[in-house]
Amino acid sequence: MATDVFKDMQRGGHEQVVFWEDADSGLRAIIAVHSTLLGPGLGGVRMWPYASTDEALQDVLRLAEAMTYKAAAAGLPLGGGKAVIIGDPRRVKTESLLRAFGRAVESLGGRYLTAEDVGMTVADMEIVRKETKHVTGTSEKSGGSGDPSCLTAKGIFYAIETCMKELYGDPSVRNRTVAIQGVGKVGYQLAELLATADARLIIADTDSQRAMLARREFEAWRVEPDEILQVECDVLAPCALGDVFNRKTIPRLRCRAIAGAANNQLATPADAERLAERRILYAPDYVISAGGIINILVGMQGGRKGYDRAKAERLAKRIPLTLLEVFRKARAQGITTARAADELAQARLDEARAQVAKERGRGRAPVRKRTARTKVRR
Ligand code: NAD
Repeated sequence: MATDVFKDMQRGGHEQVVFWEDADSGLRAIIAVHSTLLGPGLGGVRMWPYASTDEALQDVLRLAEAMTYKAAAAGLPLGGGKAVIIGDPRRVKTESLLRAFGRAVESLGGRYLTAEDVGMTVADMEIVRKETKHVTGTSEKSGGSGDPSCLTAKGIFYAIETCMKELYGDPSVRNRTVAIQGVGKVGYQLAELLATADARLIIADTDSQRAMLARREFEAWRVEPDEILQVECDVLAPCALGDVFNRKTIPRLRCRAIAGAANNQLATPADAERLAERRILYAPDYVISAGGIINILVGMQGGRKGYDRAKAERLAKRIPLTLLEVFRKARAQGITTARAADELAQARLDEARAQVAKERGRGRAPVRKRTARTKVRR
């Protein structure tokens, strides 16, 4: 591998990176723990046919860092982590591979908590659970909090309403056009919420069966994956993979706002400036996709009593409030919404770091609440 992993870790401020190889099952996984300052590093596991180990490493490092910011911006007592498994989930995902991944997670002793991400399902998490207790997003039947993508989709829906209010003075999505890139777990449920609220939908998915299903169920207009970014719409909702917006794609956008679940949508920080120059309102991805980790945290806090759905729904309603705060801050300071979100999250991390330093100064070990009963801040 040409990359110097330590240099990459230093640049991003990562605490730990674990490479895991299991010859019997063919598992090749990387787990990155970005920060445990606010709590255990929570983040899903993504299974994807990466072209190289370096591509997988860069992805997991960026995704783990984004999780730290996501939890901090949402005021949750969680840190940031992520895992990737190299391989095509449709071809090489087996029980033995998932169990080997479970053992890798277990080896970190709770510093990293896993969950489902792209290429993974609740059923997969049930298998991972056979090897580790540090797994979330398992089924409600087995005492877990279920698929987090349902609440993720709700948070995105609220964020879209917030964008509508910001742009048009009215939060309703009725007769507004929303283009969804990727109708997988989150995108499909988002489409359902929007269709129920009488929005007009344009969808695309590289998986033609998923695209056809969404088109049929929600009377959506289906376009090819390479067309979705250029369709005329009020809101573009990226719900597939990251690096969607860059110097090539931004000039061709024909949307008024961007609000979607995909992590790391901006290829570089300069892309936030490019969007602002084009007067496209950007709802920062990690601020509005926090529904999933809220769902997981509430499940963890439930302990034996189990998952409290009403509480999770209540907490998800804070997402649009945080987004409003970001919009206000950006406007007041003349900065991009991406930068406003970063500053908000950074302030929370700095506060926690100062607290840890104070406790260390007093000769006490810093308290990092890691139990299921940890309270949600705010
Ligand atoms: P998923 O794998 O269920 O769905 C992704 C969909 O995007 C798939 O249907 C896939 O075929 C499609 N796709 C991939 N590349 C595409 C392209 N170029 N054009 C169009 N479609 C494409 O994943 P998901 O759980 O729905 O997550 C979607 C995104 O949201 C990911 O970036 C994930 O990290 C992020 N996210 C998910 C959650 C969650 O709760 N699941 C929470 C926060 C963020």
